[in-house]
Amino acid sequence: MRSKGQRVVEALMPCSRVKLADGMVAIVCGKMRRLPKCRFCGEPSTKLCDKILATTIAGAELTCDNPICGGCASSVGPDKDFCPRHS
Ligand SMILES: [Zn+2]
Ligand SMILES: [Zn+2]
Repeated sequence: MRSKGQRVVEALMPCSRVKLADGMVAIVCGKMRRLPKCRFCGEPSTKLCDKILATTIAGAELTCDNPICGGCASSVGPDKDFCPRHS
């Protein structure tokens, strides 16, 4: 019988190096993959509000971008969700 715990210890490796798109390397420790929380109920958010608030002179659309969870999001189309404030 060998120690059963070894694999678990590996899985909990606290820090890892992450290469970013621009070539920089970041050290990521612990549970870094934290999701933003829903602005309205605190659940992990899976969507951003897609309500267009303004359009820049260059034509870029500025969206609300409130983090929202599936429960708070109102689907208004394929891949479009509004936060409770905009639905
Ligand atoms: Zn929510
Ligand atoms: Zn919104």
